[in-house]
Formats: sequence, C-alpha cells, structure tokens
Amino acid sequence: MLKNDPLEQWDRENFFHPSTHLAMHARGESPTRIISGAKGVHITDRDGNRFLDAFAGLYCVNVGYGRTEIADAIAAQAQELAYYHSYVGHGTEASITLSKMILDRAPNHMSKVYFGLSGSDANETNIKLIWYYNNILGRPEKKKIISRWRGYHGSGLMTGSLTGLELFHKKFDLPLAQVIHTDAPYYFRREDQSMTEEQFSAHCAERLEAQILREGADTIAAFIGEPVLGTGGIVPPPAGYWAAIQAVLDKYDILLVADEVVTGFGRLGTMFGSEHYGMKPDLITIAKGLTSAYAPLSGSIVSDKMWKVLEQGTDENGPIGHGWTYSAHPICAAAGVANLKLIDDLDLVTNAGRMGAYLNGAMQDALSGHAHLGEVRGEGLLCAVELVKDQDSKQGFDAADKICPQIAAAMLDQGVIARAMPQGDIIGFAPPFCITEAEVDQVVAVMKNAISQVLG
Ligand code: PLP
Repeated sequence: MLKNDPLEQWDRENFFHPSTHLAMHARGESPTRIISGAKGVHITDRDGNRFLDAFAGLYCVNVGYGRTEIADAIAAQAQELAYYHSYVGHGTEASITLSKMILDRAPNHMSKVYFGLSGSDANETNIKLIWYYNNILGRPEKKKIISRWRGYHGSGLMTGSLTGLELFHKKFDLPLAQVIHTDAPYYFRREDQSMTEEQFSAHCAERLEAQILREGADTIAAFIGEPVLGTGGIVPPPAGYWAAIQAVLDKYDILLVADEVVTGFGRLGTMFGSEHYGMKPDLITIAKGLTSAYAPLSGSIVSDKMWKVLEQGTDENGPIGHGWTYSAHPICAAAGVANLKLIDDLDLVTNAGRMGAYLNGAMQDALSGHAHLGEVRGEGLLCAVELVKDQDSKQGFDAADKICPQIAAAMLDQGVIARAMPQGDIIGFAPPFCITEAEVDQVVAVMKNAISQVLG
C-alpha cells in the first residue's frame, strides 16, 4: 500500500467513525490508524508497525487473524451462491448446517436460532420476541425489560436503552420508557465493604425483587444480562449471583436473556457463559465469536418454552412479521460453519480457559504491590485491571486526567493493544484464543511498564 496517497485526508473528510470524538478527528487532533493486515494475534498498519492485539479487535476475532480455512469458505460460498434470502422457509446448506452446529453446542433446552447481523439487532429481535410472546399469552401489560447499570447490549434505540452506560444515552433521548436499570454486580465497588461475595449477590437479588414489586411484577417481561459484564468494565459476577437472580426471575415469571455476544463460543473456557454459571436463559444472544468477525453474523437462540408460544402465535396470526434481508446470509453462515469447526479442530475453547487462567494469574503477580492497583479480575480470557487514585478509599482518578487512555497509548507505543474501557479507570484484555504463554508474558510486561510510565 502506498503511503503518499490521500487516504488519511479522505478519512477525515468522508468517514463518520463510530464511537469517536468527531470534532477532534475531523480537525486532525486524533490519529487516523489505517490497518492493512493481520496474522495470528498481530495486526499491522500501513506504516509497517506491528501490534499484538490483546483485545481481539472488539473481543471478536477469537480464532485469531488470517485463518485461510475461513477465508476459503467465504470465497467458495461467494462463488457458488453469494446470496439468497431466508424468508418463507428458504435456506442454504451453510445456514441450515450452522443452525444445527449452534444448537448442538447450546444448552439442551434451546430450540431454534434466528439470524441477524450484529449483536445490537439480535437484541432488538429478542425484545420483539418477548413482547410478542406475552401478547400471545394474553399478558399485554407484561412488557418492561430490566437490564443492569454497566450492561452493554448494543447501540440501537432499544438496545442503546438497555445498555447501562451514560455515554450511550446522553443527548440521544434514551433510555426508552420500557427499560428499567438495576444494580451492576460490581463487588469491588459494593457500598458495604464488609459484605462477602455471597452476601452481596443476595443483596443484588433482594434489590431486584424490591424493584420488581415496586413496578408491579405483572409489568416486567424480562431481565437481560451478560454472564460477565463486558464493556461496562469486565466484571465477573460474585459467587452465587446468577443463582440468586434466577430464583427471583422464576418467582415472578420473568424471562431471562443471556447476552452472550462476548462470552458465546468459548471466551470463558466453556462453550457458553450460561453453562459456566448455571443460568437458564429463555433467549441467548450470540454474535462476535460466531464467525470470529470474519463476516457479520448474529443470532437469537430461542428456548423450547418460548418457541412453543411463537408457533401458537403464527397459528393464530399468520407468519411472524420480523425479517432482515440479510438474515442467515450464506457468506456469513459459511464463515460461521468454518469458524466453529476450526474452534473444535484446534481445541481453542480449552486453550482459552488455560491461557485465561495464565493471563489473570500473571497480571496479578506482576501488578500486586503497585500503589494504584485497585484489583485484577477476570474469567477465562477476559481480564481487567482497575486502577485507583487511593487504595484505602478506592477513589478513582479525575476523568479529565485520562489515566487509562494514557496507559493504553503507552502500551501501543510498546506494540500492545489493550482497551481503556469506556467507564471507570479500567484497562481490559480479551486476546484471541490462540494466544501463547510467551505472548501473554509480553502483554503483562508491557502493561506493567506502561503503568509505571504513567503513574510511577
Ligand atoms: N451485546 C454485548 C454483550 C456486546 O458486547 C455487544 C458489542 O460489543 C453487543 C451486544 C452489540 O453488538 P454489535 O456491536 O455487534 O451490535
């Protein structure tokens, strides 16, 4: 690729980047990064810089970059049949095979998969299915959805509302009225520091129950949560959390949506977070890891219990009025089939569990004793380092100091990509499943260096 071309200028003149400070970017005050290639856990930019991507893109390139098995499957599908729709019973070998592969891996009580293109649209589908379900059951009042502060469920109108991060609401007139937020299971920042994990889990469940009763249980349709909070800070649930929440939901006949866009297909060292934590979801959202981002594809996996009611609904009302042109797109489905096969062939779920334990342990060993360490926490191949201004009070830094963006920038200078999470003083790690011990050692060493550089 030529470096004296006008790409950077065109970028600033024409490209509306997501999640970007638009004015600074247009003025040239933030860098344009033009990525030109990738292999394994490394990406390269067109200036020839090579980085270890310890966040797998946006925790999605789970099998690593440059997998020819998936690229070949995409090319073969594009040549044989680039597109046909999946309305009124149409399918392709790839989409039908992928449905079966997903259901073979999902918890036993799941029944069917509806395909979309992004985690956001899959969650929009989920909420429509929940509303439809309660209408068919003759419960038109049971429509509100509970999500958690710090949850991330997408950027659409409904899914941006479900997302419990202020930046995604501010100036967008969100959240919508049907959405209610409840506590994040954020043990590190619990109000009563004397609580054990189990006591804190019970406390979250009690607060949820009180909220349900205040609103009226017959108005609450569903609860949505990520098995491990992701974008909201990589926060694994405290011990007993999901069992306590599940009991409250069961008591009031409230559906559970497990948003497994990050955790689905192996990131926790198990195929699904639902099985990892013993959750009994009625819907499971999948996206990123389904194709390892080689093509855009998502899904809503529907339980037997909901499926029966959806069938009843179409017997009573005719075909379901919900479809995307690109649902089950054959090229994306072919990528999904090749990706899931590769995960099995290389035993990458096991490796994710092994490397995750190694990463979390090594990070803890390297940073313990640092005056500004809040905690290292994680599960599987998810790891977060939360920093504090003061260890005793756990007070955070001033947002204006941009401590974590500075640390992420210092890491980038040393060839490692980590993510300054959008809320709080948190650096996140979620590398591809194929990362090796030596590569983890590099990530940890660079993190340690960068913290010393920024905080001493
Ligand atoms: N749900 C979770 C848990 C996510 O992490 C994300 C994206 O990061 C989404 C939903 C939205 O997915 P997408 O960005 O593909 O719309």
